[in-house]
This record gives sequence, C-alpha cells and structure tokens, in this order.
Amino acid sequence: MAIHQDIESVLVTEEELKRIARELGEAVTRDYNGQEIMLITILKGGVVFAADLCRHLNLPLEMEFMEVSSYGSGTVSTGNIVIKKDTKSDVCGKNVLIAEDIVDSGNTLYHLKKLLLERGAKSVKVCACLNKEDRRVVPFKADYIGVEIPDAFVVGYGLDYAEQYRNLPYVGILKEEVYTNK
Ligand code: IMP
Ligand code: MG
Repeated sequence: MAIHQDIESVLVTEEELKRIARELGEAVTRDYNGQEIMLITILKGGVVFAADLCRHLNLPLEMEFMEVSSYGSGTVSTGNIVIKKDTKSDVCGKNVLIAEDIVDSGNTLYHLKKLLLERGAKSVKVCACLNKEDRRVVPFKADYIGVEIPDAFVVGYGLDYAEQYRNLPYVGILKEEVYTNK
C-alpha cells in the first residue's frame, strides 16, 4: 500500500527541510570555524536529517552513530535512557555534535548530553531538525533547531509510527484512522 495517502496534512515540506539542513549546516560551519567535530547521529530517526545536514558541514568530521531509547513505550517518553548502540570511537577530547530528528520531552538528549560530557567530550552540542517546546518534561535546549512544531505526533523525514513512514520526504501528521486500524 502506498504511504502518502495515510497523511492528513504536511507540516514541513521537502523544500523547507532542504533549506533547514542547508541553513543549520552553514551555521554550524561558521561556529566551529574549522575545528574538527564528531557528528553523532541518533538512530534511527536522525539518519535522514543527518545525511542532509552533513553535506552542508564544511568541517573535518568523523561520523558516529548511537541508538538510544527512553524507558517506557508508546508515543510518550518518560524516565531515563538506555544505550542500545554505542559509538565505535571514544568521545574523550572531541567536539561532539549530536544530530537528532526531534526534541520532544527533552529526556533523551538531556541524559545523552550529560553522559557524553561525563565520558570526557570536550564539548557537546545538539542540532535537531524539529522542536516541540510545549512537550518538555526536563529542561533542555538544543543549540541548533530547524523548526518549531506544535504538539502533534508527526512522521516522515526519519520519524516513524510503528517503524513506518521514515522514508517520507516531508514531515506530516497521520490520519486518525491509521492509529485506530492498526
Ligand atoms: P524525547 O521525548 O525528547 O526524549 O524524544 C525521544 C524520541 O521520541 C525522539 O528522538 C523521536 O524519535 C521520538 N518522537 C518524539 N516525538 C515524535 C513524533 O512526533 N513522531 C515520531 N517520533 C517522535
Ligand atoms: Mg529518535
């Protein structure tokens, strides 16, 4: 079955996402001023954004990946985090830039940033494509944000519902019937 028909409305278009990746990439490039960074992409949601972002980073860069999950299930994340996949190289002494799809409760990134600093990273900054400011349960501010979105569950551009829809080229809201029919 095709996937576009499950989308109620498009929140962030493909063109806007392209612009976001370019503008954030340029801002990061300016700020780091030639310093080497370790770009840590958060699996799986951050992959699509990171792939676009990294091509606008004019800096010496090492790519790493982590998979992190919050305790609990469903669409609301609570509590602490579990590291499901870790970096291959040591973060000690590195300027880490985390690429993430969205900041929601803030729980994942709050704990991950703390962990990487405890491991001796020289600096840890966060670049997130989307932000839901109203959903914070822990105080967390990303250093780079693509776009603010309302408190709605979104899919596409890396974000999933039940592991589907990550490959949509835009960010959209699912039709109500998709939740109720599954
Ligand atoms: P946190 O609540 O800020 O810790 O976000 C944890 C993770 O929940 C994000 O990295 C996303 O993978 C996921 N998430 C949060 N909001 C949405 C959404 O609207 N759609 C799909 N995934 C989401
Ligand atoms: Mg994620």
